Amino acid sequence: MTVSPSVSVAINGRVLIVGATGFIGRFVAEASLAAGQPTYVLVRPGLLHPSKADTVKSFKHKGAIILHGLISDKTLMENILREHEIETVISAVGGATILDQIALVEAIAAVGTVKRFLPSEFGHDVDRADPVEPGLTMYVEKRKVRRWVEKSGVPYTYICCNSIASWPYFDNTHPSEVLPPLDRFQIYGDGTVKAYFVDGTDIGKFTIKTVKDIRTINKNVHFRPPSNLYDINGLASLWEKKIGRTLPRITITENHLLALAAENRIPESIVASFTHDIFIKGCQVNFAVEGPRDVEVGTLYPGDSFRTLDECFNDFLLKLKDNLELVQEEKDQKVSTKNAVVESRAVTPTCA
Ligand code: NDP
Repeated sequence: MTVSPSVSVAINGRVLIVGATGFIGRFVAEASLAAGQPTYVLVRPGLLHPSKADTVKSFKHKGAIILHGLISDKTLMENILREHEIETVISAVGGATILDQIALVEAIAAVGTVKRFLPSEFGHDVDRADPVEPGLTMYVEKRKVRRWVEKSGVPYTYICCNSIASWPYFDNTHPSEVLPPLDRFQIYGDGTVKAYFVDGTDIGKFTIKTVKDIRTINKNVHFRPPSNLYDINGLASLWEKKIGRTLPRITITENHLLALAAENRIPESIVASFTHDIFIKGCQVNFAVEGPRDVEVGTLYPGDSFRTLDECFNDFLLKLKDNLELVQEEKDQKVSTKNAVVESRAVTPTCA
């Protein structure tokens, strides 16, 4: 892969982020705001969950301009793009609304002034990876959006950031919020198939870098930090080192993952099918980043480092310690409340 040195595109920097209240979109919006770009955030109309309302408030506090609407409303999207002179649109809508992006692409094409569109990808190269159902359906939809974008002529970038840095539970949709195991490890197959784990802040940071970079126009941008390439056995050892003890390991076989995928329980079966694709079939590592449309983040930005998985696991260790302290505090509080009750009972007769 050869990469030219020229990087910047002269743009007004106005970025519209769709899905910023979601798991991945939040990292992207934070990174856009941290980069000092004029950041517009599209929020779905209606009552927000309190935690999402806090997120929106915090974006606003950091300078984001909050807009309301649905990407499936083409006329509204055209108006928003024109009125705010948006030059970059980044979508991080979730798996259930991937096809809603078709109307967004049509709006972008109709307006004609958007210089870059990043559809909701943020995972594998969906033209290469081929998971079993029901994960496949999501990839078929993402492929459909890709073809729509390409046909529209809107410049695009596909972010293939691989896995979020965390323990890859096969039955948990957003694993980065969950601590690695403390009782036993579930090892997929023989545990030797490798994958790339990327911290959410780096997904945001490098996504934002690509939107101003002419070398990423109409490219798949792959995230392959060598420091974060682990198989699940290695991941287990890393966590054991952090917590200072070993845990038993049980095997989750290929058939087990396929059976869970076949149950077609959404979202668990989707996660099982991706787990199978990553840790049994090796979908992140079974191809070289060398096609005419492939670029790799480390090669594009050699001076920018990734947070290592080791550092990310240190965060989990801190979280674990905080949780343990909280449990201890709660226990202490219960004891002191009980004592207070006992004391007041003891005191009452003398006061009477
Ligand atoms: P979430 O479900 O967490 O968030 C989706 C966001 O999109 C929410 O903000 C939601 O709004 C908004 N949204 C959905 N539909 C519309 C619409 N029609 N108009 C406007 N806004 C809309 O998504 P994820 O973060 O889980 O997924 C985002 C992408 O990242 C997906 O492509 C997914 O496959 C990928 N992903 C990758 C992971 C990895 O490890 N690499 C992990 C998880 C996801 P509201 O808040 O109102 O619901």
